[in-house]
Amino acid sequence: MTDVLGKADLHIHSNHSDGLARIPEIMEYVQERTDLSVIAITDHNTIEGARFAKSLEEMYDFEVIVGEEISSQSGHIIGLFLERPIRAGLTAKETIARINDQDGIAIIPHPFSNRGVFGPFGRGGFLDAVNDMAFHALEVYNSIPYLGWANRVAAKMFAGGQGIAATGGSDAHVLEGIGTGYTVFKGRSAEDLRTAIDDLDTHAETGKAGLSLALRYAVRIPQIRRQHARNWELCTVDG
Ligand SMILES: [Zn+2]
Ligand SMILES: [Zn+2]
Repeated sequence: MTDVLGKADLHIHSNHSDGLARIPEIMEYVQERTDLSVIAITDHNTIEGARFAKSLEEMYDFEVIVGEEISSQSGHIIGLFLERPIRAGLTAKETIARINDQDGIAIIPHPFSNRGVFGPFGRGGFLDAVNDMAFHALEVYNSIPYLGWANRVAAKMFAGGQGIAATGGSDAHVLEGIGTGYTVFKGRSAEDLRTAIDDLDTHAETGKAGLSLALRYAVRIPQIRRQHARNWELCTVDG
């Protein structure tokens, strides 16, 4: 085992759902402005952008994981290492089962926020789910500023030792958000990251987030909402 530590931002949106940046811009930004060795493109209910990013990967010094942020009936679930898209509107359990069918990694992002799987159920729902659903990791850091409270709750539950890995992601919807939340793991490659998640040997960190990012988001929220409206069918749960 190597002692090199890699950084992975496992939660990035592009304009294939409600992000503002195009895939080539994201690739350039990661290469020029971050020290990430792995990224996952996780658009809402599509893997189109992620596949495009993957097809560009060999031109860059970092690896791309094809991911999707799936709108399940009870909230968002991230699938990593996907080969086929998973549709919105399934139960959380079924969504996770389909990720596992593809040998993917299932992550519960922003777990206690409104759109989070455990938001409406609180701690009881969370403990049931840990026993009930075969997800791999909980996103304990998600750098969109208003999620601070939810992140603290998630971190506290993780500290309780639930036998799941902790990952971090930025949930970036703009270029400047990329890399502000990330997962630290042993190694450099996407496969190293997978191994680290399996070994529960990852942790979440925050980069250069903070006030300036909060301001930038505030300024650009109308744009993000317009992009969301444009891809409305993709970004919502139907029923
Ligand atoms: Zn989400
Ligand atoms: Zn997201």
